[in-house]
Amino acid sequence: MRVLLLGGTGEATSLAHALAEDSRYQVTVSLAGVTRAPRPLPLPVRRGGFGGASGLAAYLRAEGIAALLDATHPFAARITANAAAAAQATGTPALRLDRPAWSPAPGDDWTEYPGMEALAAALGETPRRVLLTVGQKELAPFRAAPWHHYVIRSVDPPDPASLPPRAEILTATGPFTLEGERALLERHGIEILVSKNSGGEATAAKLVAARERRLPVRLLARPPAPPGLPSVPNTAGALAWLHARRAERGA
Ligand code: NAP
Repeated sequence: MRVLLLGGTGEATSLAHALAEDSRYQVTVSLAGVTRAPRPLPLPVRRGGFGGASGLAAYLRAEGIAALLDATHPFAARITANAAAAAQATGTPALRLDRPAWSPAPGDDWTEYPGMEALAAALGETPRRVLLTVGQKELAPFRAAPWHHYVIRSVDPPDPASLPPRAEILTATGPFTLEGERALLERHGIEILVSKNSGGEATAAKLVAARERRLPVRLLARPPAPPGLPSVPNTAGALAWLHARRAERGA
């Protein structure tokens, strides 16, 4: 059974490893091609956009895809909307792997914002030392609050034109350990942690380290899920869904 796995996350990598062992599925993994050196995958990989929902629909038809698994990042809203639309247009069974968002523990000073501009503005007028772990593409809003000292951690170096002045760049790929995150906050004298509410285990240790230091955490809220795309919270659910689609086809 031909499967298209939209990847770019740790969950997608786990699914790829599980499916590579299972000869009942012929899986292609699709990556946006954003990360310069993605981790190797044990399955055929295609890279780059499809050309919107219609391009993805054309791909599904041309390749005879019988199931579409969207395991992209919770903030990758465009490809998820395209997956929903293309699945509907072609009648392809489709599923979203949507890892649960993080939620605060009692006593946490967490605030969520609907957009990065609002979040940047809410950092306030007193200069602070801010750890930014929001990816490399959404840093420009922080140029509007140049009095803060930003420590920016991202997988690849951000475009220098997008940076606030005097930003320190740390390139690193998760998962991150609690010891490492404690040391990072200590070493840079971090006063506020800023992140997307990505959820998942791989990058959650920074929240624990921030909690230990009673640091405020400012989060970008999840984009809304597109209607009509069923979802599961983990890879086990995605595999169960796939096995059920195969059973339906009698494949
Ligand atoms: P996005 O805004 O939803 O997608 C932008 C465009 O990139 C899409 O319209 C699509 O182009 C192409 N694209 C995205 N993911 C693709 C995939 N897996 N395969 C083929 N084309 C893809 O997504 P994004 O936020 O730029 O994220 C890009 C990739 O990075 C995703 O695979 C995501 O899982 C990963 N990622 C994102 C974040 C994040 O915070 N956004 C964090 C970690 C990893 P066409 O319309 O031309 O098809």
